[in-house]
Amino acid sequence: MLDDLEKFTKLKRRTRGAINIDPLQRGGILTPEAKEAVLEWADGYSICDFCTGAMDKIQNPPIKSFVHDALPEFLDIDEVRITHGAREGIFAAMHALCERGSCVVADGNAHYTTILAAELAGLKVEQTPVGGEPEYKVDPQGYNKTIEDVRSRGEKVDLAVLTYPDGNYGNLVDAKKVAQICHDLDVDLLLNGAYSVGRMDLSARDLGVDVIVGSGHKSMASCGPIGVLGATEECAKTIFRRSKLVPDKELELLGCTLRGAGILSMMASFPHVVERTKLWDDEVEKARWFASQIEPFGILLQGERPHNHDLMFFKSEVLYEISKTARKGRYFLYRELKKRKIFGIKPGLTRQFKLSTYLLSREDLQTVVDGLEEIIASYTRA
Ligand SMILES: *Cc1c(COP(=O)(O)O)cnc(C)c1O
Repeated sequence: MLDDLEKFTKLKRRTRGAINIDPLQRGGILTPEAKEAVLEWADGYSICDFCTGAMDKIQNPPIKSFVHDALPEFLDIDEVRITHGAREGIFAAMHALCERGSCVVADGNAHYTTILAAELAGLKVEQTPVGGEPEYKVDPQGYNKTIEDVRSRGEKVDLAVLTYPDGNYGNLVDAKKVAQICHDLDVDLLLNGAYSVGRMDLSARDLGVDVIVGSGHKSMASCGPIGVLGATEECAKTIFRRSKLVPDKELELLGCTLRGAGILSMMASFPHVVERTKLWDDEVEKARWFASQIEPFGILLQGERPHNHDLMFFKSEVLYEISKTARKGRYFLYRELKKRKIFGIKPGLTRQFKLSTYLLSREDLQTVVDGLEEIIASYTRA
């Protein structure tokens, strides 16, 4: 093995230049400034040239001002720190705020990382009910009932989680209402904004949430893994508490989190990210337009209607039927799209799949619409 190491150095990305509709990837594409920053700061521990003991206090590059001024204003919350991703932020908050053995209440559409974070933090999870197809909605009142149910079993609830939007259907639950319900029951609410922080104009204060989490590589045009974790002053006291043994380090973050180019990419993209959140309504409009273009082919949008996010889940019996007899079977769709330089629907999926229209031009989206129409026509004509 060690005599054939060349392959590890030839790392061309084959999807370069393609139209990418993968929801996971749309919001993480770097700005030219961020790409430059990554190259400049690629060496390990590069940001520590002028460190005085805490990563978030570094003034050159201007991490201190980014973390303590820009990000709190952007999220409209008291304190923010950088994490390695949304999941690490969720874990840190759960680990810090919840008593071991207690129960976290999450929405029924919560991401698997919420479940894992709870498990690792030694917590149980109870999820609120989800409405039926095709909308799969979460009713804020579900928090009321679920928290009461858990408490009536004699268990403690210290934290609730709302996935905003969820990563499957792109549904946006009324977060204000959920926050009110949770606060009436004396439970803090964490908003998982992996798909919203960096896309939508959000105010944690307006929504009334106590903790907010974002994913840099998913929605903030950053080279990951990186995320943001914001908290109200009260929650921040606990989450960002200092170590007893090494008093100048924040314990929950193990001292320092991002120690290299990732945070520079987030900073360099930040002006663009701030601007793009102001154009969110156009993105929603475009997503709705795209869905309306492909639904007539028998590719049907699931989740909320009208839809309020670029992340969209579709079901298609037409594509599924084709896959039963197509030469490449269920891989036909992936191959046909690849021929047209369109990537992002997982290989092998036909009956249901997710895609995103985020920051794609109408022209590129028209190419996707035309491609799907052509593919379906060519397989159903025979
Ligand atoms: C992608 C995603 C995550 C995980 O984000 P990371 O930053 O990779 O940890 C968590 N929650 C939701 C809803 C997601 O879509």
